[in-house]
Amino acid sequence: MQLIDGKATAAKIKEEIAAEVKDIMAKGGKQPHLAAILVGHDGGSETYVKNKVLACEACGFKSSLIRFEENVSEEELLDTVKKLNDDADVDGFIVQLPLPKHIDEQKVIEAIDYRKDVDGFHPVNVGRMAIGLPCFISATPLGILTLLQRYNIETSGKKCVVLGRSNIVGKPMAQLMMQKQYGDSTVTVCHSHSKTLKEECREADIIIAAIGRPDFVTADMVKEGAVVIDVGTTRVPDATRKSGFRLNGDVKFDEVSPKCSFITPVPGGVGPMTICSLMKNTLAAGKKEYYK
Ligand code: NAP
Repeated sequence: MQLIDGKATAAKIKEEIAAEVKDIMAKGGKQPHLAAILVGHDGGSETYVKNKVLACEACGFKSSLIRFEENVSEEELLDTVKKLNDDADVDGFIVQLPLPKHIDEQKVIEAIDYRKDVDGFHPVNVGRMAIGLPCFISATPLGILTLLQRYNIETSGKKCVVLGRSNIVGKPMAQLMMQKQYGDSTVTVCHSHSKTLKEECREADIIIAAIGRPDFVTADMVKEGAVVIDVGTTRVPDATRKSGFRLNGDVKFDEVSPKCSFITPVPGGVGPMTICSLMKNTLAAGKKEYYK
């Protein structure tokens, strides 16, 4: 079994990005600029945004953080999105999700200029990704693809089972694994109403678990030699930790890992790659790689 080290891979990619940014700037080019909008004080969102700001520093990007209290109006938020769309210095920006219930998340996503949508959530980017055109690919699926590539894991013609069908992970992951220029796999998507989930998993060469159910994937669901990618990050209470919780994956690591050819740990697997993929997208936005 080989452990897929997302932390080390992400650190290497950030170094590569930083070298490229240095080169761009040495040639008189513009420093890439990522902005983030954060609403409220949700612990998870605060951590993600803080890590994104730190990653920007590591990559040599400029970063700005715009904060709002939980009671911000939808109008005010949309107005800020418009300002960022129009700000020529901002290459890309994200609105940290989830948003409070009184704000229509989809409306906010669609208000973002797709050319600055480095999260890849705008329908234009989602649509372009689905038909294999250059675009911002959402960060978690892009991070997983990068891990598979960097570890030279063969995916072409393999049977891949994706657990979960969310817009940010499951669906784009399945699309990408299916496409010829990316995974080129035979893909099955399972969700909470799938009756043959266990059987599908048992036949899979690659399992990508993104359901948010701690320890859901057990050894009896995994065939010998499978590649297992664990996207799940659920906070579970843990009195031994200073924070009072730990992050738990969707895979029962101790019993599943001995059967795998490759497996990602939680934490230290997919998580660091997600942020590093956002940095990749920001660099591409700065270079106007996909859109003028
Ligand atoms: P989500 O929007 O809640 O979607 C969960 C999906 O899992 C849904 O499609 C749901 O099915 C399915 N599901 C739930 N319980 C199931 C069960 N018992 N059996 C089969 N399918 C089940 O979650 P998400 O945003 O995709 O995130 C999934 C997990 O990944 C979470 O733990 C999240 O924290 C983590 N995550 C990690 C990163 C990272 O960077 N590491 C990034 C994003 C997400 P239905 O469609 O039928 O409801």
